[in-house]
Amino acid sequence: MEIVNTDILIVGCGPAGLSAAINTTIRNKKTLIYGGDFCSPKLNKAPHISNYLGFWDITGEELRQKYLEHVRSLGISIEKQRIDNIYPAPGNITVVSKGKMISAKALILAIGLQNPRYLPGEESLLGKGVGYCATCDGPLYKGKRVAVIGYTKEGEEEANFLADLAQEITYLPLYEGLGELKDNIKVVKAKPKSILGKEKLQGLETEGETLELDGLFIIRESVPPAQILPGLQIEKNAIIVDRSMATNIEGIFAAGDCTGAPYQLAKAVGEGTVAGLSAASYVDKLSKLK
Ligand SMILES: Cc1cc2nc3c(=O)[nH]c(=O)nc-3n(C[C@H](O)[C@H](O)[C@H](O)COP(=O)(O)OP(=O)(O)OC[C@H]3O[C@@H](n4cnc5c(N)ncnc54)[C@H](O)[C@@H]3O)c2cc1C
Repeated sequence: MEIVNTDILIVGCGPAGLSAAINTTIRNKKTLIYGGDFCSPKLNKAPHISNYLGFWDITGEELRQKYLEHVRSLGISIEKQRIDNIYPAPGNITVVSKGKMISAKALILAIGLQNPRYLPGEESLLGKGVGYCATCDGPLYKGKRVAVIGYTKEGEEEANFLADLAQEITYLPLYEGLGELKDNIKVVKAKPKSILGKEKLQGLETEGETLELDGLFIIRESVPPAQILPGLQIEKNAIIVDRSMATNIEGIFAAGDCTGAPYQLAKAVGEGTVAGLSAASYVDKLSKLK
């Protein structure tokens, strides 16, 4: 497996993550950003921004382009990959993504507001047949019946990976424009209604049929923070941070909508700045200790 070392890893490429990245880069810290496909679908959807200082007549998409131009001008590149699991240890935070192991001294969570509209049965069956990362847990389902619900195209990669392992694999795409899937994948174009089972997963009820299953993977644009990083303190759906944007876990900072209301650009960008500067200082402190 390829191992990549960095000073600071930023998870999320919306306004908070990009603002953090600019500041860590200006502070000469090697920075990597991992983000979703589009870098803030929210910003792209904002029809007209009127409360952001200096830009009183701009669309969300225009602002999104300006942010990306700024980041590119500093030579910062964005990996379009979702991060599913973070393994923290002081000074060495590890993340595995698509065959790469990234080791960072500090990490900033800028993953936006997680609004998990769980399917009925999802929370209670999590880890009991229901999961969010097929490439992590897929091998448990070798020779078994598995389904993938893809809220984004990324679900296709997970389904294709499972197609080589599972005995039966069903894919439920919940977006337009289905891509290439392996021949043994059965595609069901129906909305999932509820996940069945008590002690362990038994199946999935869709609008049209009931699938009997041993494993079910749900691939959304984002994963709830407590799933990505067990032990992270969260209250009322917001990651708890102090004024330096530090979380309860050493070396891990958070910024933007994921830390709570108000859900606004200026707050996301401001918190990204603070988190970036705090993470950079933390990395400096670590190197002085050596
Ligand atoms: C329709 C609409 C209009 C709005 N209008 C305004 C306005 O006029 N003024 C204003 O101030 N605010 C407005 N907002 C709010 C503003 O867009 C948000 O406050 C801002 O985008 C928050 O930035 P963020 O970086 O915290 O999160 P986001 O912009 O949500 O970015 C988070 C990023 O993290 C990525 N991500 C999530 N999980 C992972 C993971 N596990 N691995 C990798 N990447 C991940 C996502 O793909 C996303 O790209 C509006 C929002 C909407 C939806």
